Amino acid sequence: GCCLMLYDTIAAVSTPLGEGGIGIVRISGEEALEIVKKIFVSPRGKDWYKGSHRMYYGHIVHPVHRGIIDEVLLSVMKAPHTYTREDVVEINCHGGTVPLREVLKTVIEAGARQGLPGEFTKRAFLNGRLDLTQAESVIDIIRAKTDSSLRVAMNQLKGALSGKITNIQDQMLGLLAGLEAAIDFPEDEVEEKTKIEMMKSAELIKIQLEELITGAETGKIYREGIRTVIAGRPNVGKSSLLNALLRENRAIVTEIPGTTRDIIEEMLNIRGIPLKLIDTAGIRETEDIVEKIGVEKTRESLEGADLVLLVVDVLTGITGEDKRVLGRFKDKKILVIMNKIDLQENDPADCGFPVVKLSALTGEGLKILEDKIVEVALAGGMNMPEAVTVSNVRHQTSIINAKKNMEDFIVSLKADLPPDLLSVELRAAWESLGEITGSTVTEDLLDRIFTDFCIGK
Ligand code: GDP
Ligand code: ZN
Repeated sequence: GCCLMLYDTIAAVSTPLGEGGIGIVRISGEEALEIVKKIFVSPRGKDWYKGSHRMYYGHIVHPVHRGIIDEVLLSVMKAPHTYTREDVVEINCHGGTVPLREVLKTVIEAGARQGLPGEFTKRAFLNGRLDLTQAESVIDIIRAKTDSSLRVAMNQLKGALSGKITNIQDQMLGLLAGLEAAIDFPEDEVEEKTKIEMMKSAELIKIQLEELITGAETGKIYREGIRTVIAGRPNVGKSSLLNALLRENRAIVTEIPGTTRDIIEEMLNIRGIPLKLIDTAGIRETEDIVEKIGVEKTRESLEGADLVLLVVDVLTGITGEDKRVLGRFKDKKILVIMNKIDLQENDPADCGFPVVKLSALTGEGLKILEDKIVEVALAGGMNMPEAVTVSNVRHQTSIINAKKNMEDFIVSLKADLPPDLLSVELRAAWESLGEITGSTVTEDLLDRIFTDFCIGK
């Protein structure tokens, strides 16, 4: 038997902190309405509350001295048709840090507990409204960097990934059923005809898992952005290139509460592909990456890069120093940028890397660079964001494990191992996939997933 879980009532600010037209304090739990009744005053008087999924105008007042704290709109949503499947009340108050904090404080004084990061979404999962892939996609939606990233995440929220995973799990169960039948027979071996059929289904399952793994690389790009570093000697035009790229492609990044402003990275959106330009604060201050190359931090950012844009001045061409940089990062995706072609025509000598000629000053060649970036980023075949994409490292790991289990199963089946042993391997594969949707998940894993959220979600 399972323990009975009783949830207390939680409250948190659910909109980004800072200036804004409105802000929302969300309350969820059995006591939500009782708590709000203590601190909400309606012009309709005491019996303002009727029905569910309605909005009410009024004031939040102090529970004891009844002083007005804010003028608000209240949304009341009764379980089960709510985000958490519990009673939910959302207080739409004036934006800005002070009113939000004051209203939240009042709600907590009236009996709610401050919600933990991801706690609303965790409840949605525990109460069966979302599966884990859907819950996790909520993080991705909050953090989506481009329209395409958002589509990948929305698709997952609709359950596309879990649909696919559940379908593969069902195929595994089909195989398992066949095995169970075989176990019931006296012979210790699976019949030859059954064995061939099982082999076919197992191979088919393996192929589907492989397809998901292939899609995962693309998914990671949409989720996290391509970590890109602009490198090159002083005065070759790194800052000019960065600014030229930013002018047209700056990504709209929503502020996430809890993140600080001092991250030295800039998000670009190039045809839907998010590019994370790293350590650009340094570049903006006209310090040059190559000048600082001895500095540990810069080297780290270069080493962590997925893509290096090495800018070269067309007048000097590729220098010995550039060659050293190319040599050091030869395992990375590198684009050599021959800049300032407005000054001189150039037919670059082959350097073993793709070369893009452009002028950061006039913008000539910039579109070609963008094409090249997209091409390099998605080398190995473009997955449409609409397709089922595994964008989450945790999901990817589980799928890789499931594939390994299936391979073991196939080897054992070929080796005529007894059916009960075969079924152990198949079960392992089924459980690996179950970790993705949450059907076989541990409390530990749950905690790790949900603390990734910000408070109020
Ligand atoms: P960084 O030190 O590599 O960041 O180089 P900057 O972007 O600061 O540029 C150095 C100088 O080269 C500046 O005077 C720029 O105006 C100039 N510059 C940059 N790109 C171009 C270009 O495409 N054509 C020309 N003619 N000048 C450029
Ligand atoms: Zn610069």
